[in-house]
Amino acid sequence: MKLIFLGSGSAFTVNNENYHSNMLLVDDTDAKLLIDCGSDARLSLAELGFTYKDIHDVYISHLHADHAGGLEWLGFTSYFDPSCHRPNLYIHHSLQTPLWEKVLSGGMTSLQGSIADLSTYFKVHLINDNEVFKWNKLSLQTVQTVHVMNGFKILPSFGLIFTANGTKVFITTDTQFAPAQICDFYEWADIIFQDCETTKTTSGVHANYVELLTLTPKIRSKMWLYHYNPGPLPNAKKDGFHGFVAKGQVFDFG
Ligand SMILES: [Zn+2]
Ligand SMILES: [Zn+2]
Repeated sequence: MKLIFLGSGSAFTVNNENYHSNMLLVDDTDAKLLIDCGSDARLSLAELGFTYKDIHDVYISHLHADHAGGLEWLGFTSYFDPSCHRPNLYIHHSLQTPLWEKVLSGGMTSLQGSIADLSTYFKVHLINDNEVFKWNKLSLQTVQTVHVMNGFKILPSFGLIFTANGTKVFITTDTQFAPAQICDFYEWADIIFQDCETTKTTSGVHANYVELLTLTPKIRSKMWLYHYNPGPLPNAKKDGFHGFVAKGQVFDFG
């Protein structure tokens, strides 16, 4: 089981020095689960030699464009290629309606001679709260994280936990610094892929590097940092982290 980072940058990556933080989970049969499909995905996949034809399964953590903005490309290219089946779309049940009505329907409702909906393009697999869902032989579970508090309501993201060949993996996806809410998963995991903002001013909606420095050495020592901003990076190894994930970096869980 391998995890490939197509990109490890923030939503505002520039040129092609990095791409959006989308990943490919590749199992022992070479099946691939695309974890988030941002508006960069067609480029980041191409850079590693993949096309839409390689993507049969996709998981979406939340609806920001760096995580869901590539679904129009994936849906249309698969739909118009007679050799393709509809990709399987794994998504928390609360995201299904807003994904279609607020993100995709503007561009994807109208086909020549027909009206489409989400199921026209994707075979949708809804994930319920606290449900363990299966992708091939792997069991995964969503972990709701606090991403944006818009005044009165939380816009969550749905991170993932799974055990790959004995290694317990936690991918936070986008999250603000909220260790009290996810400390159990920090403790549980052997390896943590952590959203990390590296700007001097904090946005509040991503865990900033200076905030992550306040975690215990034990937790920091499990962390690979990703979703970072363009520009110079601090010395994460010196500060007790594994480091920053590079574009294209592969983690092999054996
Ligand atoms: Zn993001
Ligand atoms: Zn986000």
